[in-house]
Amino acid sequence: MSFDYDLFVIGGGSGGVRAARVAAGETGAKVALAEEDRYGGTCVIRGCVPKKLMVFASEYAGMVEDAQAYGWDIQPGAFDWDVFRGKLYTELDRLEGVYRNILKNNGVETFDMRARLVDAHTVELSDGTRKSAKHILIATGGRPVKPEIKGADLGITSNEIFHLEKLPERMLIVGGGYIACEFAGIMNGMGVEVTQYYRGAQILRGFDDEARGLVSEEMCQNGIKLHLGTNVLEMEREGDRIRVKATNGDEELFDQVMFATGRVPNADDLGLEGLGVELGRKGQIVVDDYSQTAVPSIYAIGDVTDRVNLTPVAIREGMAFVDTVFRGKPTPVDHALIPTAIFTQPEMGTVGLSEEEAAAQEPVEIYATSFKPMQTAFAGRGRRVLMKLIVSKANRRVLGCHIVAPGAGEMIQLVGIAVKMGATKEDFDRTVAVHPVMAEELVTLRQPVRSA
Ligand SMILES: Cc1cc2nc3c(=O)[nH]c(=O)nc-3n(C[C@H](O)[C@H](O)[C@H](O)COP(=O)(O)OP(=O)(O)OC[C@H]3O[C@@H](n4cnc5c(N)ncnc54)[C@H](O)[C@@H]3O)c2cc1C
Repeated sequence: MSFDYDLFVIGGGSGGVRAARVAAGETGAKVALAEEDRYGGTCVIRGCVPKKLMVFASEYAGMVEDAQAYGWDIQPGAFDWDVFRGKLYTELDRLEGVYRNILKNNGVETFDMRARLVDAHTVELSDGTRKSAKHILIATGGRPVKPEIKGADLGITSNEIFHLEKLPERMLIVGGGYIACEFAGIMNGMGVEVTQYYRGAQILRGFDDEARGLVSEEMCQNGIKLHLGTNVLEMEREGDRIRVKATNGDEELFDQVMFATGRVPNADDLGLEGLGVELGRKGQIVVDDYSQTAVPSIYAIGDVTDRVNLTPVAIREGMAFVDTVFRGKPTPVDHALIPTAIFTQPEMGTVGLSEEEAAAQEPVEIYATSFKPMQTAFAGRGRRVLMKLIVSKANRRVLGCHIVAPGAGEMIQLVGIAVKMGATKEDFDRTVAVHPVMAEELVTLRQPVRSA
């Protein structure tokens, strides 16, 4: 049977672009890709990249204060959202161009259109044309959803936050996950008065309790009004503002409300019904270790499969798919011990098990220290940081590492190598400290603070 392409990729985000360009450029496969919106996907256009640039922008206010304490004769100025947003758009345009060029230079044929499946080997584009392919890769990502409450349409999501006409004076952020917490810090740093509601007992559910406790404390210290155990009951327009009634009885006016209350996979409306592709409870595409669906010619990677929803993971899954299907090297994706960072202020970097998860699994020793780092302590800022190792009592392996500190994302990338290699506490101890840096504490933690 002959096909138009060896591979048709639906979705030009992190996973789809990587798989398409490697399959075409390195294995010589004939590849096409359809993208309905902008190339680069969530990460480049409305996720990691613009968010990190906003984190950088928001951190300068604190830096100016610190600089004064270090003797610099500079005065804090006002943050100009228009200037920043203009530069941000230019940068995103540049990056989108880079992604388009990567595909073009590797011989991938692109269609700037929505695509859906017709059968196990056929894709239909939004202009009605049909293309056949030996393999179809679904890499359509996910999207934010708003809760079903009265007036929810008055709020925005992370998709819209990058396009605000002007910065609000008072903003409510709803949610306790990493996206909610990161934007609370960003907006606060940009001078917005931020209130955050989270219905649970503590933000950053699933992460180490001690680490998330410190992040939460520091966020409050920074001026974010964090209300735990609180949710939005209903919202209504009042002039230019939004009146929000909360479950704790509060009633307040905000200029903007952002929901960061969850994301769903883009697996609906792909024509999957009746094809035999299995969908999970959250609507995600169910795949095996090789990202293959129940239909042998159809694979799925990235957020649409809702495994670990991070850019480097989607990229890994894309590479493993190419190895499996186009290089004859069946490659399962290793989802164990993925280091990750949360760009709150201070940042959190984490790899492996939390204290709670580890203790539920086996007896462990906890090594931890919390202190005021030199740089900000000198400037009179009372910020605390945390360095924490979870160690197996049985084999001394470091099962988890949790860092709350400026630069924790950079640090955890490197600790991640040691933990992935199976380093023991004694391996950490044998390593000579770098002095004076915050991370030296990780190799000088002598006594456990407790067993669990
Ligand atoms: C605010 C925010 C911050 C984030 N920060 C980080 C971070 O700091 N670090 C990190 O690792 N991850 C972060 N992520 C997660 C990361 O962005 C995703 O895990 C990653 O983008 C997933 O890649 P993907 O290829 O699966 O999907 P996506 O990047 O979402 O790409 C999917 C693409 O498919 C297109 N598409 C969808 N349906 C169709 C269709 N039917 N036809 C044609 N095209 C279609 C979409 O337009 C989109 O471009 C963040 C996410 C958000 C929302």
